[in-house]
Amino acid sequence: MTDIDTLIKGAKELGFEIGEEEICMFKSYKELLREWNQKFNITSITDDIEIDIKHFIDSITPLTLGLVKNDMKLIDIGTGGGFPGLPLKIMNKTLNVVLLDSTKKKVNFLDIVIEKLGLNNIEAIHGRAEELGRDKNYREKFDIAISRAVASLNTLCEYCLPFVKVGGYFISMKGSDIEEELKEAKNSIKTLGGRLKEVKLINIPLSDIKHSLIIIEKIKETPTKYPRGGGKPKKKPL
Ligand code: SAH
Repeated sequence: MTDIDTLIKGAKELGFEIGEEEICMFKSYKELLREWNQKFNITSITDDIEIDIKHFIDSITPLTLGLVKNDMKLIDIGTGGGFPGLPLKIMNKTLNVVLLDSTKKKVNFLDIVIEKLGLNNIEAIHGRAEELGRDKNYREKFDIAISRAVASLNTLCEYCLPFVKVGGYFISMKGSDIEEELKEAKNSIKTLGGRLKEVKLINIPLSDIKHSLIIIEKIKETPTKYPRGGGKPKKKPL
């Protein structure tokens, strides 16, 4: 199976039609990813088909939730090589996307991808979530905050919920075994103004991988003392 088939089939299994333009974009993105990965460690997944399944297809699974709508503002926290934020933008060009990462070289890489693909209304920012979340230009300005493979859920809530408007959602992309993490995050979710809405288990197409999407609704403003600085969200999660 060629990589084009993988993308088309994988997206189809999730219920999406993937167009020619999108395929071209994913192909250029993959080329850049592989090229940069030879010099810098952007991602540990480097196999052709694995990039399609574990990065591209996995990244677009949140679209099955029906929460991400046209023209929404979305922030991807700890985006790394752009996952899931960039594939989401490729699939829905109307989205207004911020990709945030604390590693400068990953942000440099993302700037190049954004330019090469000719995408508008998307910016890559170099910074730490717990700092940007206190900036009034970003705090409570997003319909959706999303994050994959960055920290445990209790820490992540402090990174992500401050960015979300009341009525918006934080979507945490996790593995299948999340019971313990969910239990440990109960206090953090509540303290930061969230409410657990749903956990959706997803079968990643063309693989036997199961992932969960944890959906947390923002029901109240986040108290101004959060997010805490000095590495506290990670060292001493709520
Ligand atoms: N989301 C991507 C990358 C996961 S690796 C994927 O799923 O492939 C975790 C990334 O989070 C790294 O690139 C790291 O630089 C970034 N990161 C970790 N802590 C962060 C913080 N506090 N603020 C912003 N980015 C952070």
